[in-house]
Amino acid sequence: MIKYMQKTVQAALQQKSRTFAEYMLDLLFPPQCAVCKRNGQLLCPSCLAAMPHLLPPYCSHCGSPQGTASSCPFCHFHPLRLNGLRAACTYEEPLRSCIHALKYMNQPRLAEPLGQLLAHSYTTSQLAGEIIHPVPLHPARQRERGYNQSYLLARACARLLALPLVDTGIVRARSTPAQVGLNTYQRQQNVSGAFVCTASARTSIAGRSIILIDDVCTTGATLEACAAPLFAAGARAVWGLVLARPI
Ligand SMILES: [Zn+2]
Ligand SMILES: [Zn+2]
Repeated sequence: MIKYMQKTVQAALQQKSRTFAEYMLDLLFPPQCAVCKRNGQLLCPSCLAAMPHLLPPYCSHCGSPQGTASSCPFCHFHPLRLNGLRAACTYEEPLRSCIHALKYMNQPRLAEPLGQLLAHSYTTSQLAGEIIHPVPLHPARQRERGYNQSYLLARACARLLALPLVDTGIVRARSTPAQVGLNTYQRQQNVSGAFVCTASARTSIAGRSIILIDDVCTTGATLEACAAPLFAAGARAVWGLVLARPI
């Protein structure tokens, strides 16, 4: 019964009736910090502040902490077509466990406080986007998980930045195996052509600057595969903004 109610409220969350859904969830499942377990909030301010923020210096294009504005091994060997890529944090604890809980342990509400990290990174990186767009999940994967964590992160980030959220510009046209364990070339091949731009979204994308949101990025292959149909539809710029990247 509780599981059913949780699923129902999560469905409401996904359908944007956020205030009522959050109220119900707080009533049924009082929030507890995912890191220190103190009662009160899903991620308390001190644990949020303790996240492994990715601070400069990093490559001004791909955001890699291994690069600088003048030289970057990642950009040299794997240049991105994206206008730029930024990560809020490095993929380390305690953020790694939070992302794992968000994706695999049925904790969609964590997207709200984690979205604050994205919004903060957007602001400090001085990105200039006009539309926030999540990396889509394949419908089968979304049915299985019950939600798209990137959508929830993008929604939280868009609300904090007061930017429009569009989640129908691109769709995942085919399911792809997980990228884990693949090298850069294999990752590119794995997701190449996996995303397509929807006909109805072309007019809203043409000439606009788009911020693609995802949870974790390793080589940028998924973001690049998303950016390709957006550029083809006439996007003026496509940036990637993710919660975390491994160092
Ligand atoms: Zn805490
Ligand atoms: Zn770089």
